[in-house]
Amino acid sequence: MNTPTFADFEFVEPIRLALEAENYTTPTPIQAQSIPHLLAGRDLLGCAQTGTGKTAAFALPILNRLAESMRPVVPKKPRVLVLAPTRELAQQIDESFATYGRGLKLRQAVVVGGVGYTPQQRALARGVDILVATPGRLLDLMGQGDVRLDGLETFVLDEADRMLDMGFLPAIEKIIAVLPKQRHSLFFSATMPPALMPLIQRLLKDPVKVEVAPQSTTAERVDHRVMFVSRDNKRALLEAVLSDSSVKRALVFSRTKHGADKIAKWLLLAGVSSDAIHGNKSQTARQRALYGFRDGRTRVLVATDIAARGIDIDNITHVINFDLPMEPENYVHRIGRTARAGAEGFALTFCDGEERGLLRGIERTINQRIPVVENHPFKLNLATLPMSEGRSSGRPPARPGRPQRPAGSSGRPVGRGAASSTEGDQPPRRPARGGPPGRRFGAASGR
Ligand code: AMP
Repeated sequence: MNTPTFADFEFVEPIRLALEAENYTTPTPIQAQSIPHLLAGRDLLGCAQTGTGKTAAFALPILNRLAESMRPVVPKKPRVLVLAPTRELAQQIDESFATYGRGLKLRQAVVVGGVGYTPQQRALARGVDILVATPGRLLDLMGQGDVRLDGLETFVLDEADRMLDMGFLPAIEKIIAVLPKQRHSLFFSATMPPALMPLIQRLLKDPVKVEVAPQSTTAERVDHRVMFVSRDNKRALLEAVLSDSSVKRALVFSRTKHGADKIAKWLLLAGVSSDAIHGNKSQTARQRALYGFRDGRTRVLVATDIAARGIDIDNITHVINFDLPMEPENYVHRIGRTARAGAEGFALTFCDGEERGLLRGIERTINQRIPVVENHPFKLNLATLPMSEGRSSGRPPARPGRPQRPAGSSGRPVGRGAASSTEGDQPPRRPARGGPPGRRFGAASGR
């Protein structure tokens, strides 16, 4: 079968125009495989992660079906419900519907936690065609009688594996229990853990199964490298990496919220525009951080795994894992933030002695070795470390691998005032030249 074009789908004129305006010429694989079935009203089980174009894969046919059966909105009764695990993702899905549906006279609303109830209640009371929601706030609003799902025509569950991780399954069960029996159901998940199977069986009727970009594919598409570095030198290494101008827009991952704040502060002190995004920040602060990053005012966004999930920002040139993720799957989610929609991407992982076990777990999951960057000035000499070190052992017993001062280094202390006792007793130094640039690492694997 030839690869379809958007013209083959025969979308209504306003959607065709929106696609033209977005410069979408060719459907991505998930779109090519899903859209015809969704236009025909089939249920769908989609195994795909963000970055594959899955939002348009469901939003376009849903919008088209709504456009072909326009009717006045009914207060409190949406026709379409999309459930997403995080506020950011919900907002981005809502924006995608608004983008593709801008020529249609449809009403939509997004209901998420962390913001006031009143505007959401008002929007629901006026009536919407499309509602995008996170499970907790939706249940609250259902409980207060602000929204009813008995008129629902289409239900989309997005990032179901994340929902499971975040403990949303009971909330989803409650929501599903009140959906009309006659409905169009779509289910998306990056992975299909067995714990999701009962939900899939309950939700979907004779679904079409579509699987694209299995996890290893993302790992193959992204140029990823690991840099061994002591914990104390990670900050200096980060600054050195960011001193390369090819690192235009970088998403840095921290394991903890506190760590994310700390890294963003260090970078600001070092003169790098940066911001942090995590669950302890208000919704407004998170939005501000996202917009700043999206429009290029902020060069580096430091995020925790959950906050970064679903961030729909193109042209992230680099993903930098300041800490390794505890769950190997999160590595794939993280690096999938770059190299979106076929673009090139680059991911760097800073691995200290204690994190080697996590690295091995990731390599097993993606079924490949991650090449090692050998030529950077903060390289940790693994030969001096005991082999049995693990994550839980706390700080390394010795303090191996002091950085070699790079030749020509100005040795300028960086952010001295911000360095706390846990960040090393000697101010890290920034390599002036010959430091590790964003894309110019020579990689040679040898551990
Ligand atoms: P998603 O997987 O839904 O998060 O989409 C990833 C990115 O791909 C988004 O920025 C979309 O705007 C973009 N995108 C989706 N479909 C297409 C397409 N057919 N052509 C070009 N870009 C697309």
